[in-house]
Amino acid sequence: MVLKPKQRNIAYRCPECGTTILGLVGKFALSANMLRLKCSCDKSSNLDINVTNDGKIRLSVPCLFCKQNHNYVVSEPVFFDRDLFLLNCPYTGMDIAFIGDEEKINTELKRTEEEIARLMASFEAEELSDIQPEEMREDEILPDPAVYDTLRFVLKDLEAEGRVKCLCQNGSYDLRFTDEGVEAYCERCGGSYLFRATTPAIAEEYLDIDELKLK
Ligand SMILES: [Zn+2]
Ligand SMILES: [Zn+2]
Ligand SMILES: [Zn+2]
Repeated sequence: MVLKPKQRNIAYRCPECGTTILGLVGKFALSANMLRLKCSCDKSSNLDINVTNDGKIRLSVPCLFCKQNHNYVVSEPVFFDRDLFLLNCPYTGMDIAFIGDEEKINTELKRTEEEIARLMASFEAEELSDIQPEEMREDEILPDPAVYDTLRFVLKDLEAEGRVKCLCQNGSYDLRFTDEGVEAYCERCGGSYLFRATTPAIAEEYLDIDELKLK
């Protein structure tokens, strides 16, 4: 029997030129080094992947919609074993990174391309830059991405172990920003849970919870 080294396809869209960048992440290569996926346009956006001290996978993904990178932490099994795993922009909810089988990724790329076209049409935008922010003003400073990052990990970790409870008990879960903070919600029954976390330190306290009840 020949053991095939674990590999994962990953894709993102360059916020500068709109090109889709596809890459391959090998498990062994990743454990040794930080990997960087780069667009070949002159603005050269890049997606970085590295392994944290506690063996989780950290990604910094250029966002097509915010023109800045968002950070994510996912566990190794989620990254290497799922057929498909999407990372979405915390501000717009749009998927910005696609991890998994090549075929599944291509399907998602096609789907999101249509989604982007619809979004642009709804803003009567002709170019991508028409819907992207110009420059961040002081009063637009977004909530700390590290908070979102940590809470996303908490949610996905509990979900993987079936320890997220909601009314329908059959949903898929995601996070969103509300005026009061980051909220976990069920896409199916709409149940939600508000994390009372305003700083990364408070968010980290949630790493110790062993169940999440959405109401
Ligand atoms: Zn580019
Ligand atoms: Zn974004
Ligand atoms: Zn539900």
